[in-house]
Amino acid sequence: MAISGAVEPIVASDDVIRRSLDDAFLPALLPALAHATGDLSLMREGLLPQTLAPGAPQGGMTEEQQATAKDLALDALRHLRDGDVEAADGRDEERVLAIIKWMTGNKATEEYIPLLLEELAPSGEDPRAPQWRMPAGTAFKVAIVGAGMSGILAGIRLKQAGVPFTIIEKNVDVGGTWFENTYPGARVDVGSAFYSYSFAQKTDWPKFFSPQGTLLDYFRGVVDAYGIREHIRFNTEVLSATFDEGSAHWSLRLRTPDGEETFEAQAMISAVGQLNRPNIPEIAGRETFAGPAFHSARWGHSVDVKGKRVAVIGTGASAAQFIPAIAAEVAELYVYQRTPNWFVPVPTYHDDVPEGLQWLFRHVPYYAHWYRFWMFWMTTEGLLPAAIVDDAWPNMERSVSMENDVLRMLLTGYIQAQFADRPDLMEKVLPAYPPAAKRMILDNGIWAETLKRDNVRLITEPIARITTSGVVTTDGVERAVDVIIYGTGFTASQFLVPMRVIGRQGVDLNEQWGGDARAYMGLVVPNFPNFYMLYGPNTNIVVNGSIIYFSECEVQYVMGCMRLLIEGEARALDCRQDVHDAYNRRIDEANKKRTWGASGVNSWYKNKFGRVSQNWPFNAIEYWQQTREPDPADFVAL
Ligand code: NAP
Repeated sequence: MAISGAVEPIVASDDVIRRSLDDAFLPALLPALAHATGDLSLMREGLLPQTLAPGAPQGGMTEEQQATAKDLALDALRHLRDGDVEAADGRDEERVLAIIKWMTGNKATEEYIPLLLEELAPSGEDPRAPQWRMPAGTAFKVAIVGAGMSGILAGIRLKQAGVPFTIIEKNVDVGGTWFENTYPGARVDVGSAFYSYSFAQKTDWPKFFSPQGTLLDYFRGVVDAYGIREHIRFNTEVLSATFDEGSAHWSLRLRTPDGEETFEAQAMISAVGQLNRPNIPEIAGRETFAGPAFHSARWGHSVDVKGKRVAVIGTGASAAQFIPAIAAEVAELYVYQRTPNWFVPVPTYHDDVPEGLQWLFRHVPYYAHWYRFWMFWMTTEGLLPAAIVDDAWPNMERSVSMENDVLRMLLTGYIQAQFADRPDLMEKVLPAYPPAAKRMILDNGIWAETLKRDNVRLITEPIARITTSGVVTTDGVERAVDVIIYGTGFTASQFLVPMRVIGRQGVDLNEQWGGDARAYMGLVVPNFPNFYMLYGPNTNIVVNGSIIYFSECEVQYVMGCMRLLIEGEARALDCRQDVHDAYNRRIDEANKKRTWGASGVNSWYKNKFGRVSQNWPFNAIEYWQQTREPDPADFVAL
């Protein structure tokens, strides 16, 4: 796997460099060259990126700014090639600070430097790897449930610390959501350089936004490179897990291909994700439909939709990808939309990474890192202010603040431009809720193009029932179809279901939660010692940062807990109730002041009590700061 710090020396001619610059992403190239050459003047005030426009090509740089930036870059690349500059020290804090200030329009401060120094690790280094090892002869073992993105990560870190572990995976292969979601058009909506582990960066991503197959290959490659596969038990499902106070062990009941068995471990890490149990809505008559029907995450590959009449129920992130992918081959496509999406224009959404940009990633030190930082900033900290509620703002169902309203205007303008020739569709696709209250969908124009097709109908009348042969809406219209596809999301707020987790004094975790899942740091729950959840309650992000970043933070914290258990006196650590409750109060208060909490629009972020049980409401750096190491005072030692 190519690691992005490991760049090749430049031997190319000026012409080759010039051609590569035509494909460059300039707002990250100038910082990388400033970093590599020490010439901070490359980051001119007049070239400052327009950090308010999400998805804007070249960060919103004008043609003139781009031309100047290319000239400066050509000069700097020549200096690098001709050896006029010394190799940069990736840890030069002064340079790092100057760069992040420029890239973020002075919004990022010194507090980001420690985070960046981890992200900018020179080739081959992995500063987040545990700096300790379990002493030989220690009786300690960990059970990880799930071999998706976060379970693999936990395995890598445990292995690096010499802690024995087993990953129990219900599927026949690794990859989790990227193994299960094989629907046509499935791809990530976070840039490849950011939707990847910090310690396993690639300079050769084929696409700006990786399709499912590329990501599955990536995770398989990481698993093999780190020797994790032999620690995984495939085809094995955890039915229940029970904490035994006498032995301070977790006892897992497994369903294996050879029957049920018990597996014991001192600690247990759940890495089952939030989005893996399909939600099939209770629509009257659903079971009576005579044709094939399936959910996006269980795509019916044996069903040939070519030439068929197809109904799609739901228009969320999954449906917005598979509807355009099948529209051209089906005879009729009826799209049943309950709530329209906000779309963020990203022209490169389906594009290959061009040759010149690939060349620059391979040859410019830290370019891939700064490109990753740009994505980090633009999709997390840079966007969060637009999701924060201003209590004095009128008409909260339209927008929640001045910044949110500006975003609304930008996104409205995009939709209006896309549907200018189809006023009938325009009124159906313009959302009536504030942007960022639900996941915004990236778009390169394909949504409008698809809805405008002759064989596609967008239906907004609510569904009344399903019959043996079609779908009936409340206006009494029945549309006959051959196939129904549910793009209706997941039962996300029922965390860990159907696994039963039994803690101290026989408490069942789902009964303790009563449908309102909460945790401290999203990771630990009182009465469930030595039990950790990755991607647990309130660790999801709406304004599109990478969930891999969050998982790396979570695993860092869990490894700190492992160390306390292995090196300390306590056999088990149980999170204090008061610490947990105070933390949750803070989370709840903040979530109420975010678009997704303030808006009445339905989303999978809220549970049946209307509480936002999924989302992290603060800056991404805050999560990194709070998960660096556990405070023993937050736990009761058993
Ligand atoms: P989703 O966002 O929850 O969308 C479900 C869709 O089904 C919504 O349009 C919803 O309408 C509709 N729906 C649900 N129940 C319905 C009913 N009874 N009648 C009619 N319509 C109904 O699910 P998803 O699209 O699978 O996405 C879930 C999450 O997975 C995303 O938010 C994202 O985090 C992740 N994801 C990411 C990507 C990516 O990276 N590109 C792709 C797919 C998924 P309402 O909006 O009215 O509820």
